[in-house]
Amino acid sequence: MDTPPAYQKCINPKCSATFGCEEVLFQCPTCGDLLDICYDWNTVALPKTLADFAGRWAKRNERLDFSGVWRFRELLDFCPDRCKVSIGEGQTLLQQNGALAAELGMNPDGLFLQYEGMNPSGSFKDNGMTAAFSHARMVGATASACASTGNTSASMALYAHSGGLKATVFIGQGKIAFGKLSQAMDYGAQTIQIEGDFDDCMRQVQDVCRQLKIYLVNSLNPFRLEGQKTIMYRIIEQLGWEAPDWIIVPGGNLGNSSAFGKAFMELQTLGLIDRVPRLAVINAVGANTLTELYHDKKLRWNNGHTDNDAIKAYYDGLDAAGFRPHTVASAIEISRPVNLKKCLRALEVCNGVVLAVTDEEILDAKAQIGKTGLGCEPASAATIAGLKHLLAEGTIGKDQRVACVLTGHPLKDPNATVDYHSQMQRPFSNPPMHAANDLDKIIALIK
Ligand SMILES: *Cc1c(COP(=O)(O)O)cnc(C)c1O
Ligand SMILES: [Zn+2]
Repeated sequence: MDTPPAYQKCINPKCSATFGCEEVLFQCPTCGDLLDICYDWNTVALPKTLADFAGRWAKRNERLDFSGVWRFRELLDFCPDRCKVSIGEGQTLLQQNGALAAELGMNPDGLFLQYEGMNPSGSFKDNGMTAAFSHARMVGATASACASTGNTSASMALYAHSGGLKATVFIGQGKIAFGKLSQAMDYGAQTIQIEGDFDDCMRQVQDVCRQLKIYLVNSLNPFRLEGQKTIMYRIIEQLGWEAPDWIIVPGGNLGNSSAFGKAFMELQTLGLIDRVPRLAVINAVGANTLTELYHDKKLRWNNGHTDNDAIKAYYDGLDAAGFRPHTVASAIEISRPVNLKKCLRALEVCNGVVLAVTDEEILDAKAQIGKTGLGCEPASAATIAGLKHLLAEGTIGKDQRVACVLTGHPLKDPNATVDYHSQMQRPFSNPPMHAANDLDKIIALIK
């Protein structure tokens, strides 16, 4: 079919304006709120069960079937197949990690780590970027841009040059892990470092894109979030099409958590799953807007009637205090998360919880993920750090099944890893040993 049965819709129930998918908007032109991609499911040829999707996995020669995003294409049917861009994203692994489960005092069968670092650019962002660039191709865009703490720029730069688009990256000052910056440069993106932080970049890039008609690929872009839904499809696929009890995800701009909630909302509407998992969104203490608004201000989705005044008052307070977010987990060092409202919706759909963890907790958890599994970057380790809290307070039971989304590859931020392991006093540090160039002395050191 060549006319996709999808449209854009404002999430504000007082507005609910709708727009065609050929329009490049990113925000509702009527009221300024976020946009969703909605589907007329009656016109989509959906498989009868989710298991029908798995058959495509084996067809490595079929470009769209091989993609871990597009083999679920009926669930994100917003553009014709000829526009779909793919470079083999979503070939990721859900690892059952008994060793880490045991360290955390959990049932050894109960802990699963979803390694999104296995994507082409090394982070989950590729799931979204393949969808955004497919939409960009559908609307004939020739240039793309993003504000980034690093991984969005790496992913955008890769997809842009694969699709023949120009790419411009906005990064904050001194706030980017070198693995990520090196990718943006290597993949040929124009990189502009702004005197400010991520939130400043986010504001500038929106105006730049509007004025120059450049295609914006931040998670404000609702098409990007459609691709990120597939992370959830792959998790439940590897669990035999059954939802785990919990999904845990780090919270930055809150695109992932929003996409996950939408994925489960739709699967439930379509009768393709029996049960929705609970969702835990983990902030860093130094960038904890969601946590503060959720707990202190009791901010809720409230059927779309979210208390905008409370959000504005909170941000005014941040401005008045000259607040700058700070955390070693640079990917979630964001104090004005653009998808805040959609995340609140996801928390409602998934009976979610929110909490913040310290940098020490993040780095200890990261070392534990590294020594028992494939490793991850700091932001991803917020999941395990958060899980420890949720186990300790009894919110998550020791015999429950928990899937943590490890959002980025360990080599994204090698400095954080080397710094941690060089400090002898950290609980899991593993520093290199020094030896004289002498066989006996070297042998004496081997443990
Ligand atoms: C972008 C990113 C996040 C934050 O995800 P949001 O969808 O913005 O909340 C977390 N971890 C890593 C590694 C990222 O690149
Ligand atoms: Zn609107």
